[in-house]
Amino acid sequence: QVQRALLALTIPLEMLQAVKGRMLQDMCKGLSRQTHAQANMRMLPTYICSTPDGTEKGDLLVVELCQTHVRTLWMTLLGDGNRSPQATNKIFDMPGDIMKGTGEALFDFIAQCVRQFLAGISRPQHRLPLGFVFPFSCRQTQLDKAELISWSKGFSCSDVEGKDVVQLLQSAINKQELSHVDVVALMNDTVGTMMTCSTVEKPCEVALVIGEQRPFRVTGWWVLGGCLLQCSPPLLPTDKGTNSCFMAEAQQVEMVEETSGRMCVNTEWGCFGDDGSLSDIMTPYDQRVDQESSNPGQKRFEKLVGSLYLGEIVRHVLTSLAAEKALFVGSSVTVLGTKGVLKTQQVLEIIDNEEGMAKARKALEDVGLRPSERDCCRVQQICRVVVSRAAALCAAGLAAILSHMCQSRGLEQLVVNVAVDGELFRGHTRFGEILQSVTGLLAPECMATFLPSVDGTGRGAAMVTAVALRLAAHRREVDQLLAPLRLSRADLERVQALMRREMDLGLGRESHANASVRMLPTYVRGTPDGTERGEFLALDLGGTNFRVLVVRVAQDGIRMASEIYVIPTAVMQGTGEALFDHIIECIMDFQLKQDLMEQVLPLGFTFSFPCQQLGLDKAVLLSWTKGFSASGCVGQDVVQLLREAAQRKQHLALKVVAVVNDTVGTMMSCGYDDPKCEIGLIVGTGTNACYMEEMQNVGTVEGEQGRMCINMEWGAFGDNGCLDDIFTDFDRLVDEKTINAGKQRFEKLISGMYLGEIVRHILLALVEKQLLFCGKPCPKLQTKDIFKTKFLSTIEIDGLALRQVRAILQDLELQASFEDSVLVREVCQTVSLRAAHLCAAGLAAVVEKMRENRGLARLAVTVGVDGTLYKMHPHFSQHLQQMLQDLAPNCTVTFLQSEDGSGKGAALVAAVACRGAEP
Ligand code: ADP
Ligand code: MG
Repeated sequence: QVQRALLALTIPLEMLQAVKGRMLQDMCKGLSRQTHAQANMRMLPTYICSTPDGTEKGDLLVVELCQTHVRTLWMTLLGDGNRSPQATNKIFDMPGDIMKGTGEALFDFIAQCVRQFLAGISRPQHRLPLGFVFPFSCRQTQLDKAELISWSKGFSCSDVEGKDVVQLLQSAINKQELSHVDVVALMNDTVGTMMTCSTVEKPCEVALVIGEQRPFRVTGWWVLGGCLLQCSPPLLPTDKGTNSCFMAEAQQVEMVEETSGRMCVNTEWGCFGDDGSLSDIMTPYDQRVDQESSNPGQKRFEKLVGSLYLGEIVRHVLTSLAAEKALFVGSSVTVLGTKGVLKTQQVLEIIDNEEGMAKARKALEDVGLRPSERDCCRVQQICRVVVSRAAALCAAGLAAILSHMCQSRGLEQLVVNVAVDGELFRGHTRFGEILQSVTGLLAPECMATFLPSVDGTGRGAAMVTAVALRLAAHRREVDQLLAPLRLSRADLERVQALMRREMDLGLGRESHANASVRMLPTYVRGTPDGTERGEFLALDLGGTNFRVLVVRVAQDGIRMASEIYVIPTAVMQGTGEALFDHIIECIMDFQLKQDLMEQVLPLGFTFSFPCQQLGLDKAVLLSWTKGFSASGCVGQDVVQLLREAAQRKQHLALKVVAVVNDTVGTMMSCGYDDPKCEIGLIVGTGTNACYMEEMQNVGTVEGEQGRMCINMEWGAFGDNGCLDDIFTDFDRLVDEKTINAGKQRFEKLISGMYLGEIVRHILLALVEKQLLFCGKPCPKLQTKDIFKTKFLSTIEIDGLALRQVRAILQDLELQASFEDSVLVREVCQTVSLRAAHLCAAGLAAVVEKMRENRGLARLAVTVGVDGTLYKMHPHFSQHLQQMLQDLAPNCTVTFLQSEDGSGKGAALVAAVACRGAEP
């Protein structure tokens, strides 16, 4: 019979796995917005988003409301890694009637405790932040805003449920003329425990509390974990339940808007199983414990694990076995019918290996039983199995938390510190040992180190308060620094209007010379109509790569072959002759490889620099951009330069028929698939756009009929100073270090060549202001271009575990904390969002002009887009499109990504030209 009871109380490993799985499910249910309301485990957000980093500094006050008393604590942090915080505390007994009186009386009492406590500490009256430990379930919406959901633990004060308890406390404190005391944080006791154990070297990200937390056992000064505490004598009973909390990925906490970083979640796991999901492991003994409790049917997990109930479970097992005559034969067992005769403390003593038997005998004799040696032995076995079961279930719960953390962080292995508190951990190694080993079995991918809490919640509450202050100050400074990069809707409308003005200036015959947007005619008068045919050579110069291509345009589509050639920086920035000689050599190499030496194919030349075009095959270079500076080219016809180089190289079979800007190429190649495509956009190394303008508006070219594609050269927008007020110090720093300082100012806010640099300068400023990397100097970050624009793409991917951000930063020899990573991501987001929005403002000016040109109420148009930044960045295109729709609501704009627009487009322009040339 005893064996049967023991067996019933033993949970096999597979069942524990199942319990873990159910706990995981319930956690997700509590975290999800849709199912949160029905969840047993409430997974309450705490708005605590960070653990201490050791820079916390200043005087702090904590008030802790406990079952029978109020504790006040003063702590001074020195910003020295929290190594030697000074603390002093005082405990006030609470009159019994307060728990059931009015809410006002309760909060007045707490405020009076604060006043009395402060009266005993003579300090100047500067602003004093206060952290409030309030161990009841609250619906928290900010760190300092929390509505009480419902009272428990014997409290039932009127007029508090549904109210903001921070507000209630603050009002009561103000009534005591303590208005310099500022309630800045409210927290649950479990969270306090997690924070208490957290140190700079060992941040704790999980806390378990099982049973009574009881820090104060001695009078006088006590050094706890480097923290000097003045302690008061009484042994204070506190909560006997169980709970846990952990740092969840903010993104998973759907009840909260925040999506970056982490937030501590209070699981309220005591309620796990209230929907019956633990019924298959509940024994008849547990059923009886539950029925006799003050809240039958509720807190099922707590009743299996919590220390309030272990003694009771054992009592019911003994009662039952005695009734079956398997125990205490011959002695009266009526005493076992009394609730609470067996204390959890006694159970814990009985399981001790050495003194357990003696303790068992004493405990049983104390209640009037006359146990035999065998009875004592069996009672010990029963106590052990009950404690082991509690530890194993607790392990299943912890394993669920750890696996959840590991998974949501995208880790293969999680290394984590777990703060533990409560009487089951103190001195009773058996519980701790089982917890640890079973957790290891159930979550083998996680390595947890258990740190026993040394000061309950008080110190942790002070830490939370300190961290909250640090974060608030930090946030203010970061916001201040980033504010100039955050453009308002009104700013963007202004940019749009300015772009429109510059466009008009650029098109006008007289005003053209003064416009920063040059609006260059391209002599491309139409997009492809699908009848183009033939075989063409194409060159693509002006991007990251120089390429030579052969393009075959046939009825069944376009086929291409291409080769990438490197243009060494020395050639880019050497003489024009050397540059064009190099280009011809590459063409010859390509023709050799493709076996095209014998043919004279028409060649389209994608040349992506601003040119004054005088015809389709005549283009005078106006200025170099994007890192090119070859001498003797500006002011020359690049087709001529190419032809001269061909002569020098004796390459006589070259027939250049068209010079094409890459924007035009992009528009043409997309136009081949979509006739609505009348805009080309590039967001790659640089940025630029072109579109189909009415000939009558093009003052710089003769003729009024039809349309012509205009290469806007919008990268230079703002070079006349019209955007000066949106440039930030960071933009100026970036601009100064370029080879074309003062030029291409719009481009330098948007394109791939510069975004990484902007981010780098912001990061340097943040370090300088001690807001990042603890202010440690970062020599590598001083290097120009070390922060690549492609990092922005990686860093900003949604849901990407921040360890990837850390890995990128690590490569730059930057030691990033979790919060550093969050901040770096925010900087990247700010910079890329601004770029996308500015691009949208520019495009809005274009589409609105086209709509007006055509006298339409609505315009439907397609934009052909190319450029790695546009294509690879996870949010750029979406942000661009959303803002464009917002700024130009009367236009329906579709975006079509071009595939190799530069190559294909050049060939198509050549084809369109040849089509025109042939009769
Ligand atoms: P180009 O404009 O020179 O023809 P691309 O369109 O390929 O060439 O753009 C190259 C630019 O794209 C580079 O300057 C680089 O900064 C940027 N870039 C490269 N990879 C990425 C990426 N994954 N995300 C965002 N930008 C990128
Ligand atoms: Mg390109």
